[in-house]
Amino acid sequence: MPTKKMLEKFAELAVKIGANVQENQPVVVRSSTETTELAREIVKAAYQAGAKRVEVQWGDEYVSRYGLDFMDLETLKEVPEWVVKRAEHAIESNACFISITSPVPGLNAGVDPVKTQESGKAMMRKLSFFQTHMMGNKAQWTIVAAPNPVWAKKVFPDLTDEDAVEALWDAIFQASRVTEDNDPVQAWETHNETLTKHNEILNSYQFETLHFTNSIGTDITIQLVENHVWAGGNEITTNGVMFNPNIPTEETFTMPHKFGVNGKVVATKPLNYQGNLIEDFWLEFKEGKVIDYDAKKEKQTLKNLIEFDEGSCYLGEIALISHDSPISNSGILFFNTLFDENASCHMALGRAYPMNVKNGIHMDPEALAAIGYNHSMAHSDFMFGSEDMHIVGKTKEGKEVVIFENGNFVI
Ligand code: ZN
Ligand code: ZN
Repeated sequence: MPTKKMLEKFAELAVKIGANVQENQPVVVRSSTETTELAREIVKAAYQAGAKRVEVQWGDEYVSRYGLDFMDLETLKEVPEWVVKRAEHAIESNACFISITSPVPGLNAGVDPVKTQESGKAMMRKLSFFQTHMMGNKAQWTIVAAPNPVWAKKVFPDLTDEDAVEALWDAIFQASRVTEDNDPVQAWETHNETLTKHNEILNSYQFETLHFTNSIGTDITIQLVENHVWAGGNEITTNGVMFNPNIPTEETFTMPHKFGVNGKVVATKPLNYQGNLIEDFWLEFKEGKVIDYDAKKEKQTLKNLIEFDEGSCYLGEIALISHDSPISNSGILFFNTLFDENASCHMALGRAYPMNVKNGIHMDPEALAAIGYNHSMAHSDFMFGSEDMHIVGKTKEGKEVVIFENGNFVI
């Protein structure tokens, strides 16, 4: 375990920079039973920051696995009314949300994919109002990570359980800009300023398309929606509170046009989806839609993702990250999107973020659809950046601007 001091610093970061808990605001902490120490520190830090009431919603990945094994499909598709009520109550009371992610890689291997798919769909359907609330930035929310032994061993297979957990804590702290002698809150204020500057440069170009090429077969053109907004780092809720949805974050991202994606993209890191690891895969798009794909491992899982719903075969996000970034430089493959997506350029299949278009968070679903927004209950990031990634942006006037050379920003 890390020292109490490091845990306190990390918790303070989640509360002050992540969710930015406001005076007298209720807080919902979502934690795995694997990460109780951090959850407790976050609860304490939230009260110290003025939280009115802090509620912890515990989850346990192993309990969930038994559920998938033993419940029949019909039962799995029933979402208890109290789960819906709980989410409604959190929204009504203007709560903010702090999630601690601690995935157990490979835990769901061997589960009937229909069960995973159908129970996931039922849950997302019932709670789509909640997802709309969060993704529309109606409340502050943040995700931080903490290790568990299985995940740690997956990242550091040569270490003992205990050493692996220790090493993963160190890697998480480093990626999250928490060190023994820094003030992480201060460090993040500086980091947010840097990301904001990058967004401003890209926003001023208003590129019509981006063309991505590299030596392993990626050759894809992505049209961006008109009046798109590059975002990344801190965000602002509809009532004006700043927050950082992801700790760590290195990305600057925007909205692709749902029907404007053409070409092939080759993934450069595995994708953990529904507890399974999809490896060595590629996707081919035509007019926005995935028309062909393959994976050396877990092709069925990739199929599940692509066929999840009507929008999950279209893109909802394109994100740029220099190959020369702290997480990428650490050389560690975390097997967790929160980290790996910040090591590499990525795109997401599924739902787009309304804030990635001017005035988007105030548009209704019809208005969003009309500008090329992709609606889906899924949102899965996958990484395709490489050290030789080349990106050229093309403006409305036809002017070409090199954005990335040899994997890094050059503008
Ligand atoms: Zn992203
Ligand atoms: Zn994403």
